[in-house]
Amino acid sequence: LSKEKACIMKKVDTIVYNSSSLLTMAGPNRPRAGDEMRDNSAVLNGAVAIENGVVIETGSTSYINEKYIAEKKIDADGKLVMPGFVDPHTHIVFAGTREKEMEMRLSGATYLDILKQGGGIHSTVKKTRAISLGDLHAISKKHIKWIVEHGTTTVEIKSGYGLDPDTEEKMLTEIAHLQEEGPLDIVATFLGAHTIPKEVDRKEYIDWLTGEALERYKDKAEFWDVFCEDGAFTLEESKKILKTAKDAGYKLKIHAGQFNDLGAAGAAALLGAISA
Ligand SMILES: [Zn+2]
Repeated sequence: LSKEKACIMKKVDTIVYNSSSLLTMAGPNRPRAGDEMRDNSAVLNGAVAIENGVVIETGSTSYINEKYIAEKKIDADGKLVMPGFVDPHTHIVFAGTREKEMEMRLSGATYLDILKQGGGIHSTVKKTRAISLGDLHAISKKHIKWIVEHGTTTVEIKSGYGLDPDTEEKMLTEIAHLQEEGPLDIVATFLGAHTIPKEVDRKEYIDWLTGEALERYKDKAEFWDVFCEDGAFTLEESKKILKTAKDAGYKLKIHAGQFNDLGAAGAAALLGAISA
């Protein structure tokens, strides 16, 4: 570079250049639907100028390299460069796996049949209650590694395999631990309303969800979620649980229409849930 040219170049801290394709996702700042969802505003051989963790400008590699100078330059070496995925719905903190149930489903049993027989959520609850926090952490770290390798940078994680006060707390404690350790941004959701635990009376459990539980997890969960489904919570119960959670200051999500349409999506819209 000549001295004159270096003077008019703008200094940034990082440039990523030489991508095969840079997905900028530029476009209207609102949720997209239909064909718009395919529009990723790709720049061939694109580059990004970054200052203080903020994207200053995107463009072709030659354009960015002429306009900006940076101490740290990352050669993408012909790879795809894109924003990280944001995954708003996971259940990655749990113990035990359920591949046996896959076999049952292949021979004709439905998810709801298996749940009624004490499998499904109940089988994961049993194992998640029994596991130590240390062992739960080891399993969760393995899942986090897979997520990172697939390009996700922000992930929501739900509790919901405790269905008792202490195990729900153990799950949320583990979710907080994962957030502390990094590298992902993690959002915690309380899903005590995943189903009714086998040993507790239905009314008693819903009383706990709409009472004591609200205060107990205040600092540990940002969202409150309900599984509105046959074998879990009715529409009326779901609405009651979410309404009290909203009044207590939680943001809402709902598992709506996974197997049967009980009207949960409509309730989610009325209550201002962020997803259904
Ligand atoms: Zn789910």
